[in-house]
Amino acid sequence: MIKLHDKYFKPFLTESQITAAIQKIANEVAVDYKEKTPIFVGVLNGAFMFVSDFLKAYAYSCEVSFVKLSSYQGLTSTGIVETLLDPPENIEGRSVIILEDIIDSGRTLQQLVHLFSNSNVKEFKVASLFYKSEVYNGEYSIDYVGIEIPDRFIVGYGLDYKELGRNLKEVYQLNQKHMINLVLFGKPGAGKGTQAEFLKEKYNLKHISTGDVFRYNIKNGTDLGKLAKSYMDRGDLVPDEVTINMLRDEVDKNPEASGFIFDGFPRTNAQAEALDKLLETKNMKINATIALEADDEVLIQRLLERGKVSGRSDDQDEAKIRNRFEEYNQKTAPLKDYYEAQGKFHSVSGIGAIDEITMRLGKVIEEL
Ligand code: AMP
Repeated sequence: MIKLHDKYFKPFLTESQITAAIQKIANEVAVDYKEKTPIFVGVLNGAFMFVSDFLKAYAYSCEVSFVKLSSYQGLTSTGIVETLLDPPENIEGRSVIILEDIIDSGRTLQQLVHLFSNSNVKEFKVASLFYKSEVYNGEYSIDYVGIEIPDRFIVGYGLDYKELGRNLKEVYQLNQKHMINLVLFGKPGAGKGTQAEFLKEKYNLKHISTGDVFRYNIKNGTDLGKLAKSYMDRGDLVPDEVTINMLRDEVDKNPEASGFIFDGFPRTNAQAEALDKLLETKNMKINATIALEADDEVLIQRLLERGKVSGRSDDQDEAKIRNRFEEYNQKTAPLKDYYEAQGKFHSVSGIGAIDEITMRLGKVIEEL
């Protein structure tokens, strides 16, 4: 991971992938132009590295030049493209091949086509090292493409984020934010859901509450809901296999998330191990498990109050609540040791005003 200004970027394309893509373009262009001495026109600033390596990979007669569009990149009222560096003179009757670092929306390409439209060139072709086919408006054909990439913000190999990163040999993609994955730990009623709502905003994280997902499925009468309902009504845990598969689906639904808050998961050793394995396959990990601590008697009062408002049946009956605590003590509490052994366990008091508790959690997170 690298940091440019305020943002984090993670590796996306290696040097050798880029080299291979350039060689591929050079070979394709050579097939069409090796007898013709084309003029390659690089588009500054981003294409300088591409142009340099491309020319080294192109072993035939050619010329090279550059254009630079003004950063405003629009047409003036007279229909002229504003440039900071003009196209080469005497290109009449020549074969011009534009070398672009990246084509996304196609806006720059449109300007370029306009710029060359009155120059009486013999041929006008476009080669782009990177190409975002998903967002390209498709107005002009792109004749040679190095690598098609998804719509991600990338830097490196000539491309910048606020002028930084152009000198990187590899290409990196935006990581939104330094990734953090948190487990909120604590008995029912400790305030995990409430705090997750605040933390997800503050740290740009995706909140996954397994209890909420089960309730959503029950409400919608899905098979998963029907299966979970009997366990939940009694205040028992839903079997691991069911819960783990469901959690995996929820994580998979959010490939762009810059981190997760797991609320109500894991609740057993098997779930904790499954979560570690799942994250490992995605090059992610749990950064911290934070427990919200509060006395049983306080929690029982909170849950009974919540039950009156939410109508949740498992919050309205003290026997069911005590059974959930029993499940917690037997199956979930031992996870403290699991995370402590990894040096990831933190605990804060869950008693007090909501914003005070958010601040306590924030303090732990900021230090990660
Ligand atoms: P919660 O909203 O987190 O209090 O969860 C409500 C109920 O959903 C629990 O009492 C369990 O029956 C079920 N549940 C939620 N998360 C899990 C989990 N990780 N493992 C097993 N059961 C769960």
